[in-house]
Amino acid sequence: MSVKLASRVAELKPSASIAAKKKVTELQAAGRQIIDFTIGEPDLDTPAHIIDAAVVAMRNGDTHYTATAGTPALRQAICAKLRRENGLVYTPDQIVVGCGAKQLIFEAFAATLDSGNEVVIPAPYWVSYPDMVALNGAKPVIIKCPESRGFKLKPDDLEKAITPKTRWLILNSPNNPTGAVYTREEMFELTTVLARHPHVWILTDDIYEHLMYDGHQHVNPLQVDEKLAARTLIINGLSKAYAMTGWRIGYAAGPKDLVDAIAKLLGQSTTCASSVSQAAAVAALDGDQSLVRQAATLYQSRRDRMVELLDGIPGLRVRAADGAFYLYPSVEGLIGRKTPAGKILETDLDVSLYLLDEANVAVLDGAAYGLSPYLRLSFAISSPAIEEGCARIRRACEALR
Ligand code: PMP
Repeated sequence: MSVKLASRVAELKPSASIAAKKKVTELQAAGRQIIDFTIGEPDLDTPAHIIDAAVVAMRNGDTHYTATAGTPALRQAICAKLRRENGLVYTPDQIVVGCGAKQLIFEAFAATLDSGNEVVIPAPYWVSYPDMVALNGAKPVIIKCPESRGFKLKPDDLEKAITPKTRWLILNSPNNPTGAVYTREEMFELTTVLARHPHVWILTDDIYEHLMYDGHQHVNPLQVDEKLAARTLIINGLSKAYAMTGWRIGYAAGPKDLVDAIAKLLGQSTTCASSVSQAAAVAALDGDQSLVRQAATLYQSRRDRMVELLDGIPGLRVRAADGAFYLYPSVEGLIGRKTPAGKILETDLDVSLYLLDEANVAVLDGAAYGLSPYLRLSFAISSPAIEEGCARIRRACEALR
């Protein structure tokens, strides 16, 4: 007899990136030499001084439950970071630490959404946002942001999408999957619209803020309009900047009543994030930041090489990402083409399956990110893998009729 699932779970799609990781692992275990461009995490190891801090914490008996909202030391380090790097003033009681930024976004929605509420999500978006909104009973309202507009939300489109039911707008700069970064002027235009709609809250997912290229600067909506602080939740974490995905530390900063509600939910679900990971996170935030800049420099050189290799492949159109570590090339020119096996490529999913089957290259389809026909390719993989993977993509595209 099979288990009777709740309807909200039965309707839930598995995360596209997690599903891809599972498939690639299975194929690799079966002996296929896959080049994996689906990876959504740094391929670098966590810096040694952070690991050392975790070891010290374990030896010192930092192995117990912590306060649900996070250790005082970590919340203090987060406040210091927000002040130092973003010029924003928060007190520790406005900070809640969780098991990754992902958990905090989910709990922020759990804490605030009722059925009938709407959440405005610019597309392309990180795969999890719409599902998290739907899981919490609300309706994702997707605004497509085409490549011709730099994949960025325009003020007119935001204005049109807001209704009396809107609870949140999600902003994510640098963006996963396009790498688009909002300039100060663009952010100002959006905050001008938001100022006219005081019932709309802003969730700013800043997780890629340190992975910026060509001198681009990260701008948070509060840095252009501090009055929005009373209805803004900053989401951030250590996963991407410090190569700490597996440590599962993320945080939210915002108005105390919202932060308290999120902590209340954590108290009934995970109790707290790992004590050892929290100690490591303090060392990361308080320690030498030059490693973060070095990592960004490395990613930028890989991005440059990958753009060079993909540019000129027949059927692909690629633009350089300004931040994060993904390229989002258009595959418009491949749609309608025929594979050597005689199949017509009708969607970007067809293209991704063709590349996996014929070229042993794993990529994610734009449909999973809400804007087609595109592919998402990560450049957080080694340079030899980038060389080989792009050569395989070129051969596969050239083989199409
Ligand atoms: N936001 C975005 C845009 C992401 O890409 C990710 C990770 N893929 C997260 C949040 C979650 O990161 P974590 O839970 O590891 O902190």
